[in-house]
Amino acid sequence: ARRPLIAGNWKMHKTIAQTQAFIADLCARPLPLDDVDAVLCPPFTALAAAGAALAGSRVGLGAQNVSWAEQGALTGEIAPAMLTECGVRWVVIGHSERRAMFGELDERVKEKARIALAHGLTPIVAVGETAEEHAAGIALDKVRRQVRAAFDGFADDEIARCVVAYEPIWAIGTGKADSPEEANAVMGAIRADVPGLRDARILYGGSVKPDNIAAFVSQPHIDGGLVGGASLEPASFAALLEGA
Ligand code: 13P
Repeated sequence: ARRPLIAGNWKMHKTIAQTQAFIADLCARPLPLDDVDAVLCPPFTALAAAGAALAGSRVGLGAQNVSWAEQGALTGEIAPAMLTECGVRWVVIGHSERRAMFGELDERVKEKARIALAHGLTPIVAVGETAEEHAAGIALDKVRRQVRAAFDGFADDEIARCVVAYEPIWAIGTGKADSPEEANAVMGAIRADVPGLRDARILYGGSVKPDNIAAFVSQPHIDGGLVGGASLEPASFAALLEGA
């Protein structure tokens, strides 16, 4: 029912030239875009070039972050209008790396989701528990709290326009993906907890590869993947789309 989505989060990888080469290679391949949505999230510096290279293609463009403000004295930040001007339609918000290393708090995640929606950007709100929280059996408590905080005060129809990405932190970049069943249980619980998420897409992230994506998307509550390492090569990204 929900159309699968594969979003590639490149993190701090690829120059403009490397981005252009990736897109030329990817778009020369037969991609199953009638059946799956594809989004690439390059670094800010490559967004304008990526937007130009993707114009007319069905591969979407996302950013990895956005400011909570329209403009102003916010050195180093990027406003939503700067993204949409580049052709950006999606934005990752609250990635665990930003929460852990850049002090991003739930309140900011909420403000960023709100301003993204106001600019017609689709927020991909990332949540997930640490290894310690997972071991302590409080993964669902943590994730439920993050999701509620991110959408606090949102109307159901606003939440329905968002995407949630469940990324257990211990599974990111480790090669140790969560089990599809366990991830699905957390994701189904989030969906049940927040009425606006009933028909929204919820992605799994954390060591998603071409050889495990099909097992994830075959679960009822897993609508695709937010993928780091395996999104960096065109052949691998194309294989993820095929697997979804
Ligand atoms: P990996 O796919 O490299 O584990 O990264 C997941 C992630 O953090 C995507 O946002």
